[in-house]
Amino acid sequence: MRVLLVGGGGREHALALGLASDPAVTQLIAAPGNPGIAEVAELRAVEPTDPVAVAALAVETGVDLVVVGPEAPLVAGVADAVRAKGIAVFGPSGEAARLEGSKAFAKDVMTAAGVPTARAYTCTDPESVARALDEFGAPYVVKNDGLAAGKGVVVTDDRALAEDHARECGRVVIEEYLAGPEVSLFVVTDGEAAVPLLPAQDFKRIGDGDTGPNTGGMGAYAPLPWAPSDLVDEVMRDVVHPTLAELRRRGVPFSGLLYVGLAMTANGPRVIEFNARFGDPETQVVLALLETPLAGLLHASATGTLVEHPPLRWRDGAAVTVVVASPGYPGTPRTGDVITGADRPGVIHAGTARRAGDGELVSAGGRVLSATATGPDLAAARDAAYELVRGIGLAGSQHRTDIAAAAADGQVEIPG
Ligand code: AMP
Repeated sequence: MRVLLVGGGGREHALALGLASDPAVTQLIAAPGNPGIAEVAELRAVEPTDPVAVAALAVETGVDLVVVGPEAPLVAGVADAVRAKGIAVFGPSGEAARLEGSKAFAKDVMTAAGVPTARAYTCTDPESVARALDEFGAPYVVKNDGLAAGKGVVVTDDRALAEDHARECGRVVIEEYLAGPEVSLFVVTDGEAAVPLLPAQDFKRIGDGDTGPNTGGMGAYAPLPWAPSDLVDEVMRDVVHPTLAELRRRGVPFSGLLYVGLAMTANGPRVIEFNARFGDPETQVVLALLETPLAGLLHASATGTLVEHPPLRWRDGAAVTVVVASPGYPGTPRTGDVITGADRPGVIHAGTARRAGDGELVSAGGRVLSATATGPDLAAARDAAYELVRGIGLAGSQHRTDIAAAAADGQVEIPG
């Protein structure tokens, strides 16, 4: 199988490692890729959000499968353009990707499908914003309606901050605060059949102890020793299948990766958000534990044959990833710093580049690397991931020191 992978971040590096290790894959092309991905794939230049350009590249390279990593190309209709050329593509149509691209659309689908989620209002003017904030009280949850790379959400006790964010965004979803540990569940689907991957947890805030502003994600671990044993079955029954059925009913079937972000509240799991693609950095840990060949699984989703796919196999043990970020992130990151120690197994490239002229590896984004390791249990995987972090050199870099710590110590509790 010849595969074209679209994207160039940490998620795509993790996907590239999984695809490259599938014996069925004879050629892996990544566009635009990154210096880490270049170790396992042939890189091609492309503007990932240009549907015509991506479809043309898929035709030119004669691939059997296109895997679209990030959300922006999906929302822009890249999967539709590739499908129109008769090429199998892993990823939803632009219409179905609105499940991620519009918080208001996602809420509407959830309400129609009876999916347990936070009560919410879509607001566009200061009066309706004030009414919604009054009704729910603090902590206030204000979400930009559109795509915001995981940073469009403000959760705060500060009323003025909540109102400012609403004003800056224009159109927002304001919702009740959901208290409880978070779970990310990835589901591979062809629109009808759906296969859950291992639940994972990520760390959204920049600082230890979940302090400071939200980021794209500072670390992750899987599996979740504290999660109820029937969690995945419950979420498939109450969330995933009703949502897929509602989307089919609307004539916008969803195939690809349905990411269900949940809060484990005192009243049970509640959906915080849907995404239309693999999450970063949870992909790094989930794929590190997946034994089933990845390309075959994604191809089954892309061709509507998931029902025939054998059950997934998982490695024993646990995986942890720790993100190493640039100084300044999640504000304006400083880039262009030389990176050392990134050439070891488990170091996944997110925001890296080769410097023009001398080819040195340099930082090129907010989240630069993610150090990923497995082990017989969470504590061992965590120690191995931090060992990798210690070997990375990047001036002024930041990372959290408490990834997977509470879970490894048995201290994660579901309220109630
Ligand atoms: P989202 O982009 O919707 O995933 O939101 C980003 C992060 O904000 C989530 O991972 C949560 O940590 C937090 N968040 C979003 N919605 C809520 C909510 N209703 N209650 C509590 N925290 C939330």
